[in-house]
Amino acid sequence: MAKVTFTDSQRFVNVGKCLCLGRNYPAHAKEMNAEVPDSPVVFIKPSTAVIGSGSRVIIPPLSRELHHEVEMVVLIGKEGKHIPRAEAFDYVAGYAVGLDMTLRDVQAEAKKKGLPWSIAKGFDTSAPVSAIMDKRFVPDPHSLKLSLKVNGVLRQCSSTAHMIFRVDFIISYLSSIFTLEAGDLIFTGTPEGVGEVFAGDEMEASLENVGVLRVGVESSSSTVQHE
Ligand code: MG
Repeated sequence: MAKVTFTDSQRFVNVGKCLCLGRNYPAHAKEMNAEVPDSPVVFIKPSTAVIGSGSRVIIPPLSRELHHEVEMVVLIGKEGKHIPRAEAFDYVAGYAVGLDMTLRDVQAEAKKKGLPWSIAKGFDTSAPVSAIMDKRFVPDPHSLKLSLKVNGVLRQCSSTAHMIFRVDFIISYLSSIFTLEAGDLIFTGTPEGVGEVFAGDEMEASLENVGVLRVGVESSSSTVQHE
């Protein structure tokens, strides 16, 4: 079972579902030639997609195009349904930096055919997440620098200030549809600058005052050779 650990202790939490937002930064919607949505675009990754820092993202054989999307991740601390926006932060346990790894070729095909994104977004290792920073050390999640380097070169650099839908709204909105449970993760969307990574690349994602996440990339064929 996937777990996330807190930075300040040995505390860990079993991960539940990962609820993910698409197009939550205007500049990313623009680079994808997509409209800025009136309500959140939501998809789910299974808990089996989650890996920790120091792990490797494995490109499955059915894809030739793996993209990085750096995102702020919110860890839910207690169960809630129909959570009012004013109480939303009571349900937050902490924050992390994560990567919404995406099989862009598989997603593009699914979009074209009107099919779900489950494979493109939910494959094993598609949800790397850093250690969790307790929320008491993150007074304002909407003013944090968010960045990603690949092989030491800056690829994405923005601020959570540019999020269209804010954390309190997202929690209230999602909880009107899904029961939120302790251990659920919310991926809050990526800023502009998404792009391709290849087997052998090393990614370093950072969220100011929250954490750093380091993961490599492997193709499934290279995994077999290692075994
Ligand atoms: Mg994303």
